[in-house]
Amino acid sequence: MNKLTLDDITLQGKRVLVRVDFNVPLERNDQGAQAVADDTRIRAALPTIREILDADGKAILISHLGRPGGQPDPDYCLAPVGDRLEELLEERVRFSSNTTGSAVMDVINGMPDGSVILLENTRFEPGEKSNDASFAQALGQLADTYVNDAFGAAHRAHASTAGVAKYVEQAAMGRLMEKEVEALTRVRDNPESPAAVILGGAKVSDKMGVIDALARTADDILIGGAMSYTFLRATGQNVGSSRVEEDRLERAQALYEQAQDKISLPSDHVIATEMEADAESSTVTGDIPDGYMGLDIGPQTIGSFTDVIDQAATVIWNGPMGVFEMEPFANGTREIAEALAEATDRGAYTVVGGGDSVSALVQSGHTDRISHVSTGGGAMLTLLEGETLPGLDALTDK
Ligand code: AMP
Repeated sequence: MNKLTLDDITLQGKRVLVRVDFNVPLERNDQGAQAVADDTRIRAALPTIREILDADGKAILISHLGRPGGQPDPDYCLAPVGDRLEELLEERVRFSSNTTGSAVMDVINGMPDGSVILLENTRFEPGEKSNDASFAQALGQLADTYVNDAFGAAHRAHASTAGVAKYVEQAAMGRLMEKEVEALTRVRDNPESPAAVILGGAKVSDKMGVIDALARTADDILIGGAMSYTFLRATGQNVGSSRVEEDRLERAQALYEQAQDKISLPSDHVIATEMEADAESSTVTGDIPDGYMGLDIGPQTIGSFTDVIDQAATVIWNGPMGVFEMEPFANGTREIAEALAEATDRGAYTVVGGGDSVSALVQSGHTDRISHVSTGGGAMLTLLEGETLPGLDALTDK
């Protein structure tokens, strides 16, 4: 991790452009106005922002929010996020409805050192996702220094996450980025043994590379969620009408054969004829009958997975074990969250990432009992796979 950090750059009197990950869920309040529904990501950015303000630098915050499609859309305005940040920071947070240009520059130049401004959604600009050089340069013109603290967006080569870095004097990691990279690199490269990886969720394609990479360092790879049905089908089991990625069967079979001694697949399932919260569910061991789909891991699988977690010194978890949003299929994910919390209590190093696993963790109230809760889903998987993160790559080397 030979990149500059906040320890290596001058903050005092500097205009510091900070890419944060304020891509948070919004909801309408009683007055019909947009408000932040979950401020976890805003809180995660506070250490970096506070450090810049305490050092008398100007913090110029940029982020994307949702998918407005390269044009202004009031539903994705960042102003409500600025309001929440102001409450959390207990400092005035200025807001600019322009992201670049002379008007923003004037506001930034006129504000005192030690103050903070949030600029409008970078994805209101078509040049953000295309990593357009002139948009990246316009962002760079606002600042002396660039700090990337948006780990959750670091796997994207966009103007605000990567392109901008070459248009400033120095580009460094923020404290959140530093913490994420350190924790995830540690479990990827030097996990204390025995190391267990638990993968779930729907998209098997996203996780193939991670299985391949972690099969080298981990002792156990436990696969649940919809992705397990692609593997089970590849091993010749009947999975009924469970979700299967047909075009990944061959790769799943190859991966399974290559790491058979490490991979565990569910041996029993909670099944139903449809994916509905009020569907009648039952448990089946082995093959899933035609007309039924597997929607959660069964009690026997929960038992064998938790036995592995109980023995592990390192545990990495990404992706729910079932359709945890619906109560009849939430138990597997809940039990895995509980097992990880207990593993942490007895001294194991535990890492959880991915939006769904983290919200399952929040629901079960165990967030504080996990060694490292990652703010990244895709970025976490990319790093674990051993692929480069464009948002990290763009920063200045030490
Ligand atoms: P991903 O974005 O790939 O991590 O997938 C997360 C989604 O996978 C969640 O919305 C879950 O409801 C869904 N999921 C987990 N297990 C299953 C399953 N057995 N069948 C269908 N969807 C599932």
